[in-house]
Amino acid sequence: MERLFNFSAGPAALPLSVLEEAQRDLLCYPGAGCSVMEMSHRSRPYEEIIEKTEATLRRIMNIPDDYAVVFCQGGATMQFSMAAMNYARQGQKAAHAVNGVFSKKAFEEASRWCDAYKITDTKTSVPEITEDMILPGTAYLHITGNNTTSGTMYRKLPEHGNIPLIGDWTSGILGTEIDVRDYSLVYAGAQKNMGPAGVAVAIFKRGSVLPDIDPVVPSLLRYETMDKTGSMLNTPPTFAIYMCGLVYKWVEEQGGVSELQKLNEKKSQILYDVIDSSKLYKGIAEKDCRSIMNVTFTLPDEENTNAFLEMAKKRGMISLAGYRSVGGIRASIYNGMPIEGVECLAECMVDFEKGYRE
Ligand SMILES: *Cc1c(COP(=O)(O)O)cnc(C)c1O
Repeated sequence: MERLFNFSAGPAALPLSVLEEAQRDLLCYPGAGCSVMEMSHRSRPYEEIIEKTEATLRRIMNIPDDYAVVFCQGGATMQFSMAAMNYARQGQKAAHAVNGVFSKKAFEEASRWCDAYKITDTKTSVPEITEDMILPGTAYLHITGNNTTSGTMYRKLPEHGNIPLIGDWTSGILGTEIDVRDYSLVYAGAQKNMGPAGVAVAIFKRGSVLPDIDPVVPSLLRYETMDKTGSMLNTPPTFAIYMCGLVYKWVEEQGGVSELQKLNEKKSQILYDVIDSSKLYKGIAEKDCRSIMNVTFTLPDEENTNAFLEMAKKRGMISLAGYRSVGGIRASIYNGMPIEGVECLAECMVDFEKGYRE
């Protein structure tokens, strides 16, 4: 079967050349005599792989030396807890900007550890955050840079005074420029825009975590321990990290994150233009905070939504159904989605509105 245009929100489409390179080296990684999946994480070839992977990420994201890069397991969801445990004492206040499904989950997980509160609480918008909204004694401010489910994105950084700013950039990382220096911690699950599922990347300012982390916090959930051990406190997800390395190299070949951001702006604008000139489609996200990674919209009813999904599928486009609790249509157009796929979707939207049915 042929590869289709895959609009999945995650795990999501990877660049074809990345998959081809992995395929080429799957059985035998050059010079190693075995697959990446079969080699010791402490072997020289693997050390080179993980070092190169980190170095490439540092280049494409301009990560300064006083920031550490660590590869963690447990996805972005484990980062919800890890961030809280490394940046807040048990019972301490923590500000969580809630503006969608994952930011709410982050808030709920943090609440198990500390006294998290919602500094904002919205679904389809990204309210401004000013310093006066932060309660005294707050340990950190947590935002979700790109809201994957309803398709919103921070355009302006929140004010956070002198407390650490933490950003979950799972669905925006490498698709839009992020200056890690604005944050104490940026983290992202890989499977949206960086590689396969099974690894999360955390980039944190060395020395920004609590000096006296609660002894109950497991070693694997301590950023500084992960840094000191080169993400090898235990066996890391070796193949997933290797795949991320291939994606980072690909990003660099495309001209870096700034070029991909321009392309993602163009891709998303194609779809937003169709939505804005339509009587049938309604954008879910408010206009001033629309995401360039996840474009969401609704049709008047379920019948139309299903008919649209059906027609898109016939034209070779899959995984366009909206998030379970949001509904409608969601087109995730991360770096791995070529502009041709977006044009194909835009054409399908226009034809569907004109009354064509396939
Ligand atoms: C997908 C997603 C998550 C959850 O990621 P897992 O790796 O499944 O834990 C968290 N935050 C955001 C913004 C996401 O898009």
